Amino acid sequence: MSRRRQIYEGKAKVLFEGPEPGTIVQYFKDDASAFNNKKKGTITGKGVLNNRISEYLMTKLNEIGVPTHFVRRLNMREQLVREVEIIPIEVIIRNIAAGGFSKRLGIAEGTVLPRSIVEYYYKNDELNDPMVSEEHITAFGWAATQDLDDMMQMALRINDFLTGLFLGVQIRLVDFKIEFGRLYKDEEMRIVLADEISPDNCRLWDLNQREDGQGSLPPGSRTGRGSLSGSRSPPRYPRRGRRGGPQGSQGGAVGAL
Ligand code: ADP
Ligand code: MG
Repeated sequence: MSRRRQIYEGKAKVLFEGPEPGTIVQYFKDDASAFNNKKKGTITGKGVLNNRISEYLMTKLNEIGVPTHFVRRLNMREQLVREVEIIPIEVIIRNIAAGGFSKRLGIAEGTVLPRSIVEYYYKNDELNDPMVSEEHITAFGWAATQDLDDMMQMALRINDFLTGLFLGVQIRLVDFKIEFGRLYKDEEMRIVLADEISPDNCRLWDLNQREDGQGSLPPGSRTGRGSLSGSRSPPRYPRRGRRGGPQGSQGGAVGAL
């Protein structure tokens, strides 16, 4: 690791200069955080898993035509990606009401939404990643209307793909967070999926497991979801998945969800 120049250290990853210009290496840490970094911990092996999971999901998304920054996995904790200009917007896609969304709008956790809802949050830890509208984003020049259209379309496509993939293993994709970046090649710019897709950024509910361990739930039943504190999940069902398990979950916009 010391052979590489470090560019940035975030909550979940460290970025290093890549071997060729225009590439960077993402190193996945075991650090976990929740509620916009107010709660922190370490989950041994988390970085290794997230590196693998993000590799898998980005590869599959590439295969169905969603452009991503992913190039290849280098080792257990590192992957090579194309360097992009990160658009400072966290895009959240929701299928089922949960977390901050339920609180904010008074919609019970577990309510299936009439359609998938896309939300934007300004990526700024100091401000706790406030929710913003398309108006803010275009007025302040964080992204153009066309960029947002591209991001929204890709987000919904990713949502459909991931929803099906997870359902196949009896997991409900409740909501998730993604980031996009601008990739410049010759004279052209295109928007690609960046950062990571892993359980750190997805709220996942187990369709089968009951909190009391007494077997399966009836079809369509609501299940719990991962949360660091445990205080915010539905009472009967297990927590699983989102942002890191029992010790903590990823902060960012998701933490404010
Ligand atoms: P943070 O604490 O800011 O969420 P992370 O620990 O998730 O940081 O580290 C990843 C950082 O690198 C994020 O800020 C993310 O926006 C940025 N990033 C992700 N993919 C790329 C990329 N391909 N090029 C440049 N920056 C990226
Ligand atoms: Mg992050």
